[in-house]
Amino acid sequence: AKKAGGGLAVFFEDDMNRLASERAQLESDLRHAVQDGELEVHFQPLVDCRSGALLAAEALVRWHHPTRGAVSPATFIPIAERSGLIEELGSWVLDAACRNFAAWQRAGYPLARVAVNVSSRQLRSDRFVATVRTTLAKHGLRASQLEVEITESVLVDDMALATARLEELRRLGVSIAIDDFGTGYSSLAYLKTLPVDALKIDRAFIVDIATSSGALALVRAIIAMAQATGKTVVAEGVEHQAQADLLRQMGCYCIQGYFYHRPMSAAALGGLLAEQRRP
Ligand code: C2E
Ligand code: CA
Ligand code: CA
Ligand code: CA
Repeated sequence: AKKAGGGLAVFFEDDMNRLASERAQLESDLRHAVQDGELEVHFQPLVDCRSGALLAAEALVRWHHPTRGAVSPATFIPIAERSGLIEELGSWVLDAACRNFAAWQRAGYPLARVAVNVSSRQLRSDRFVATVRTTLAKHGLRASQLEVEITESVLVDDMALATARLEELRRLGVSIAIDDFGTGYSSLAYLKTLPVDALKIDRAFIVDIATSSGALALVRAIIAMAQATGKTVVAEGVEHQAQADLLRQMGCYCIQGYFYHRPMSAAALGGLLAEQRRP
């Protein structure tokens, strides 16, 4: 029973226990989610802010839990990573992303590529590159039509292995983006040596560029660095016209964010692409 004085510690302990059992429950539910058809892939367009044209789409997984409703990937992806389920889940997302992209290609929609998030554990798996190659072949995609997004934490976990994997992917022709750029703590030196095609500036840097000159200067510096190292630069989390305008002025033309489009179902993106193609 709880004693006065020890109450706070007991409270924390209860909380920790609840969190742990909640996580265990989610993990066991997640084990069945793929087979039971509870997962869905949504897509968020990357837009050319000069023309409004859709350039690419990022696949973002959704989990419709039978009793909890929508569970955020920010909650279940870490659980999938820790439990090893991420390999199966990640392969499923890759397949769904490529399948939808192939259908848009056949319909003649002008989308250059589809981007898929890849976690550290997935990248380190020795089956990963083979899975990518098979999935591309299965759906008739060229490797250049796939972009893999990894975070800087992937590099910190095991730089040598990550680099080797990325080089294998690059040799296939897959393009590689560093996600949430700027939020990790790895060395900038890797930008020179790593086979990376694009940097995605994290939303945390974009959020106050219209109100803070410091934030604006920082983003300007990131854009300059990307350009100096020959990489495409993408701004994430753009929610306002003012942010899009500033980014365009600074030479960052590829934008992803609620200002243009929220993530949407494959069917909704198909509709949007059909609209864009119409003269
Ligand atoms: P992320 O890869 O950085 O994806 C961007 C997140 O920001 C998405 O959240 C997206 O819905 C959200 N977002 C996009 N534009 C805006 C905006 O203008 N404002 C705000 N406030 N948010 C915006 P989501 O879909 O909840 O995904 C969260 C994270 O979960 C992703 O962050 C990614 O790290 C992870 N994730 C999602 N799907 C997958 C997947 O298939 N595999 C792996 N490994 N991770 C995934
Ligand atoms: Ca991403
Ligand atoms: Ca991101
Ligand atoms: Ca993120």
